[in-house]
Amino acid sequence: MNIAANIRQIKREIPEGVELVAVSKFHSAEMILEAYNAGQRNFGESRVQEFIEKEKLLPKDIKWHFIGHLQTNKVKQLIGKTSLIESVDSPRLLELINRESEKGGIVTDILFQLHVAKEETKFGFYPTELIEYLKSGEYKSFKFINIRGLMGMASNTDDQERIKEDFSLLHNLFETIKEDASFGFKNFNYLSMGMSSDWPLAIEEGANIIRVGSAIFGNRVYT
Ligand SMILES: *Cc1c(COP(=O)(O)O)cnc(C)c1O
Repeated sequence: MNIAANIRQIKREIPEGVELVAVSKFHSAEMILEAYNAGQRNFGESRVQEFIEKEKLLPKDIKWHFIGHLQTNKVKQLIGKTSLIESVDSPRLLELINRESEKGGIVTDILFQLHVAKEETKFGFYPTELIEYLKSGEYKSFKFINIRGLMGMASNTDDQERIKEDFSLLHNLFETIKEDASFGFKNFNYLSMGMSSDWPLAIEEGANIIRVGSAIFGNRVYT
């Protein structure tokens, strides 16, 4: 894999205003540095322990996006180290991130993760569930989080129409929440969707963050 060339290629193809997150989970600090040296600054990680270990070794101006399922007992370790936690998938997690951020004296930017794909294994709020939660207004007392938007994944399928429908649903939900003044969001402006296999479609459907792993770094070897 020519990491630098892959990054340059994707950057040429994405329109202005779309942020590329290089998903570096399961890849070494050396490979991340290769991408960094090609100008890449946003990276995505999905496991807390692995992230913490690599983060220590790498330049401090990297913007880390946490994109994996976050266990509540690991929240504390992440606070202050991420630019965006994209995978907030429960009210309890949101509450904990708020509490730990308060202790750390910082405000943490987050996205809500949505579940729209067909697979049962994916985490996230169902759209109706998220709307109900937002209507409860509970999050309004959380002063140490900044809710920036939504993250989601399309179904894992070759059916382009199905993928498009998933993205379109996320986009509609994003616009609905963004435009409803009663939710009181000040900078709800990120829609994170699209991965190696489907990012062009995601951008067509309104994504402004794409999360690309294997198309940059090659296949992951799961350990
Ligand atoms: C692993 C992962 C990606 C990147 O997947 P690729 O297919 O390698 O591009 C994107 N988003 C999330 C949430 C992931 O876990």
